[in-house]
Amino acid sequence: MKTVFKITDECISCGSCAEGCPVDAISEGDEMYVIDPELCIACGACADTCPVGAPVEDEVDD
Ligand code: SF4
Ligand code: SF4
Repeated sequence: MKTVFKITDECISCGSCAEGCPVDAISEGDEMYVIDPELCIACGACADTCPVGAPVEDEVDD
């Protein structure tokens, strides 16, 4: 398992997190922004940037 961040339903699609992600893991999805767990290095920048606290830690298989 590895720790990554995922974006929850709180997302208001402002795009701030995507601009700040050092590995370009965040893209605009159909209803909200999404994080590619393959790319995310769990730096936490998206959570720090997000105005509504949408990105949270998650555990995924690696
Ligand atoms: S935790 Fe860091 S690497 Fe992962 S999506 Fe957020 S900004 Fe990008
Ligand atoms: S910063 Fe927060 S609200 Fe804005 S797109 Fe990213 S997750 Fe969604």
